[in-house]
Amino acid sequence: MSTKTINLTPKLYDYLLNVSLREHPVLQELRAMTAQLPAARMQISPEQGQFMALLIQLLDAKKTLDIGTFTGYSALVVALAMPNEGSVIACDVSREWTNKALTYWEKAGVANKIQLKIAPALETLQKLIENGESGTFDFVFIDADKKNYLNYYEHALTLLRPGGLIAIDNVLWDGRVADENNQEPETQAIRAVNESIKHDVRVTFSLLPIGDGLMLARKK
Ligand code: CA
Repeated sequence: MSTKTINLTPKLYDYLLNVSLREHPVLQELRAMTAQLPAARMQISPEQGQFMALLIQLLDAKKTLDIGTFTGYSALVVALAMPNEGSVIACDVSREWTNKALTYWEKAGVANKIQLKIAPALETLQKLIENGESGTFDFVFIDADKKNYLNYYEHALTLLRPGGLIAIDNVLWDGRVADENNQEPETQAIRAVNESIKHDVRVTFSLLPIGDGLMLARKK
C-alpha cells in the first residue's frame, strides 16, 4: 500500500478536496469563470495551487516569474501567498486571456504585485537576463507552450538564485509521456525536459503526481 503513490478514485479525490482545500474566494470565482472557457483544461487544479502557495511561503519567495499566465490563477495564487513587497512577472502572449486575469488580480487586491508582460516569454526572460537580473528570482512557474519547455527551463535556471525553485506543469501530460506510440512534438518536448532534469547536476528535483504532473527543480 505505501510503496507507491495511491490511486485517486473520484470519491477519494472529492474527499481530498473537501478536507484540505482552503481557496481564496476570488480564486474560486476565477476558477469557475475559467471552467466555462473552451481552453478550460489549461487551468491548474486548486489543490496544486494551494501546494504552490505553501512552497512560496516555505521559500520565503518575494521575486517570482509566471511563464504562461492564461487567465491568471497561478499568478494570483503566488501573489496572495507573498508579502506586500512580493512581485510576480507574468508572461503571456494573449491579451484576451490576461485581460480576464487583470480583473481578478484587482478584485483580490494584489494587482500591484503582478507585472504583466505581453510578449513571447523567451523575449521577456532574455530581457531580464540582459538587465542583470540573473540569480535574483526565488521561484519560477513554467506552464506555457510545451515545445519551448527546455528553453524556459534553461532561462529560468539562469534567473533563479541558488536555493530557488522551478515548478514545471503538465510533465505527465495526461499519461501521454509514457505511451511510446505517442510521438507528438509536445509530448516529445515534455519527455525531453523530464529526462534532461534527471541528469542535470545543477539541480535537485522531484516529480509529483499532482494535477497533470508537477516537476520541482531546486537550483543548487
Ligand atoms: Ca498547465
